[in-house]
Amino acid sequence: MSADPTGARDEGFDDFVDAVAAGEGYYLQCENGHGSVPPRQVCPDCGSSALSETPLPDAGELQTYTVTHVATPAFSEDTPYVTAIASFGPVRITGQLRDAEPEELERGMPVELTTAQSATTGRRLLAFDPR
Ligand SMILES: [Zn+2]
Repeated sequence: MSADPTGARDEGFDDFVDAVAAGEGYYLQCENGHGSVPPRQVCPDCGSSALSETPLPDAGELQTYTVTHVATPAFSEDTPYVTAIASFGPVRITGQLRDAEPEELERGMPVELTTAQSATTGRRLLAFDPR
């Protein structure tokens, strides 16, 4: 990892998005069994720095979501979109839920983690597809 905390954060996130895009998404697990989403230097629950990369489960569970109709300029071309939080084992991941009508969504429905591109900025982001 880079010694530059700011650089490491972006680099780590890109590495994580690359891994998800390749179907090799992972989370960080400490020796006490806590899970966290990369990039992290220490466990947010116990402060352990002994983190190991552990494969994410294939399917996550939709925990909550919100539909955005009016967005900040950074996402104005993406509206309306669904921002969701899904749990994958011990970690919760926030992303855009694609290809789903808001009225079809329900808590606990299975989703897969993938990547998408912002229609506004072209930047990659984390996304979910209904399974
Ligand atoms: Zn921990």
